[in-house]
Amino acid sequence: MTSYNKPLPNITAHGREFWEGTKRHELLIQECKDCGTKVFYPKIFCPQCGSSNLGWIKASGKGSVYSYSSSLGKNAPSAFLGDVPYTIAIIRLEEGVQLMSTIVECSPEDVKCDMDVEVVFDDVTEEITLPRFKPVR
Ligand SMILES: [Zn+2]
Repeated sequence: MTSYNKPLPNITAHGREFWEGTKRHELLIQECKDCGTKVFYPKIFCPQCGSSNLGWIKASGKGSVYSYSSSLGKNAPSAFLGDVPYTIAIIRLEEGVQLMSTIVECSPEDVKCDMDVEVVFDDVTEEITLPRFKPVR
C-alpha cells in the first residue's frame, strides 16, 4: 500500500459504523426500525418519519448507475490529476438509496446510465477503505 495523498472522509460519530463496515469490506446502510425506510448517507434521524431509531443493515452491494460525469482530458492540478480519465457516479443501490462513488474497471466511454454495477472495496490507507463500483459483466 503506497501513501495516499487524496482527501479522506471526515468520519462523524453517526457515520463511524459505515466506515467500520467498509473496512471489513461490507457496505452498510441504515434502516429505520420504526418505518422501514432505508437511509443513506448516515443520518441521526429518519428522513421519512423523524425517528432516531435507526439501525444498520448490510446492503447487497449491487445497484445501477443513476448518473455520472467523466473527467476525460485536462484536470485542475490536484492529487487526482494522475487518475484522468476517471468517472464519478451516483449509484442507486438495490435497496433504493443512492451514493456517490467512482466507477472502476471500466473506461469512461463505456459507462452508461442504468448500467448494472457492484461494489468493490479499495483499502486506501490502513484506516480507510473506500467503496467503488465496477460493472457487472
Ligand atoms: Zn422512519
